[in-house]
Amino acid sequence: DHVTAQRALLSVSDKSGIVDLATALASHGVELVSTGGTASALRDAGLNVRDISELTGFPEMMDGRVKTLHPVVHGGLLAVRDNPQHVASMNEHAIGAIDIVVVNLYPFEATVAKGADRDTIIENIDIGGPSMVRSAAKNHDAVAIVTDPADYAALIAELAETGGATTLATRRRFAAKAYAATAAYDSAIAQWFAVADQGQAFPDTLPLAFTRGAELRYGENPHQSASLYIPRGPAARGIAQAEQVQGKALSYNNYNDADAALELVSEFRDGPPTVVIVKHANPCGVATGETLIEAYQAALACDSVSAFGGIIAVNRPLDGETARAISGIFTEVVAAPSADDEAKAVFAAKKNLRLLLTGELPDPARGGLMVKTIAGGLLVQSRDAGNLDQVELKVVTKRQPTSQELADCRFAWTVAKHVKSNAIVYAKGGSTAGIGAGQMNRLESARIAAWKAKDAADKAGWSEARTIGSAVASDAFFPFADGLLAAVEAGATAVIQPGGSIRDDEVIAAADEAGLAMVFTGMRHFRH
Ligand code: 5GP
Repeated sequence: DHVTAQRALLSVSDKSGIVDLATALASHGVELVSTGGTASALRDAGLNVRDISELTGFPEMMDGRVKTLHPVVHGGLLAVRDNPQHVASMNEHAIGAIDIVVVNLYPFEATVAKGADRDTIIENIDIGGPSMVRSAAKNHDAVAIVTDPADYAALIAELAETGGATTLATRRRFAAKAYAATAAYDSAIAQWFAVADQGQAFPDTLPLAFTRGAELRYGENPHQSASLYIPRGPAARGIAQAEQVQGKALSYNNYNDADAALELVSEFRDGPPTVVIVKHANPCGVATGETLIEAYQAALACDSVSAFGGIIAVNRPLDGETARAISGIFTEVVAAPSADDEAKAVFAAKKNLRLLLTGELPDPARGGLMVKTIAGGLLVQSRDAGNLDQVELKVVTKRQPTSQELADCRFAWTVAKHVKSNAIVYAKGGSTAGIGAGQMNRLESARIAAWKAKDAADKAGWSEARTIGSAVASDAFFPFADGLLAAVEAGATAVIQPGGSIRDDEVIAAADEAGLAMVFTGMRHFRH
């Protein structure tokens, strides 16, 4: 299964490493054939190269659109070497076999990312390159196709080991990679046409072009395997793009939780210093403050038990004092727009703590798609970019909320958007007082949140739970008055919820009777 290489065709846009590879090929007596730019690069390095136009008998033409699209090239790639008819055709038409192909494609995605105009983008759709890649990969029994400069070293080593040959195992591995490369390339083109050019949010065929990023140690559980994938081409900034400054590699759950924390803290990107503590993708404490450390202490006080092993995100450059406070308990991940030297030094002593720097926080109102797998399919929806700026708050009770209640309502609502449904969030003075997440009925979420607030007060030695005089947010309407009454019992004086239940009247009457102020948002924030 060794194929001794006699002729190689090199045609690359990304010319990194090509001279080294070509030099190695030449040293094994392999004849080099190349397209214009690649040939010049090799000649500049003193290598002997034949121009492809010499083989095809045609000049490279039409702005490079037609360079290698010729039977002398594709025949040389596709001919089955031990098929007498194929060999006869090669002889009849003076087609020489090509044994190694090195191609990487016009930089389509990079051109789009640069914000180039439409004509430039179209011109950067490579035609001849993918054709050669696919021909060579199909005929991997005889031809080695190298599409990734990262594989040059492996090819050079194999040529050295075999005295100028390639092995079937390598050719098969390269062929698989080659088809993945052309598939991703075409996906990126299809994605650009559908989304950027045609403005279709949900194309008939979903052209997802992702490249593997970090290989994760395991998935949600140790018996599951996992990997991170990053979109090719332009992507909204998010946790996947954060720079890890220190600590162990991020796990699957770390990514998932850090994403939840970053998405929530980003809602406050134009607000006061804010700290979010997440556990199992739900916030267990969120607070604003005059300073980051003040916000951290308030967030921690909401549920200091759950905060152990938590994931923290902040909306300000991380300072040393806050870093020291965070180091006070075991913390898995801290994500911040940036960190000063003192903060970095504090964390340097905590070998396991992962520090992620995100740069400017993502825009919470940006568009984009959310994808969830179900057995046999994908559910795709637009991102929940809804926020209170887009709605008109309607006071539905006799009593109007005070300005403090209204501020707490808005804060609680924003947090509730990021809590798994059914979500109930009590907040007071810019800090969560109790969070009830993920219950199958709203009444229980309200009770759990109140119970947790009471527990936090006991732990902190406060005279009363911070739900007394709080605002409560419900991510969806109260279907019955019971959930609202549980909030009344906990001491809430203001309520924010979407409204829209057939029993709204009942719920409003219960609120009026308890002297609450209640506002409707008309917008729901389920999150599952
Ligand atoms: P060079 O820099 O050598 O002039 O061009 C290399 C690039 O041209 C590679 O990215 C390769 O994929 C691409 N290419 C090779 N043949 C053709 C062709 O016939 N048509 C088009 N559009 N691109 C080609």
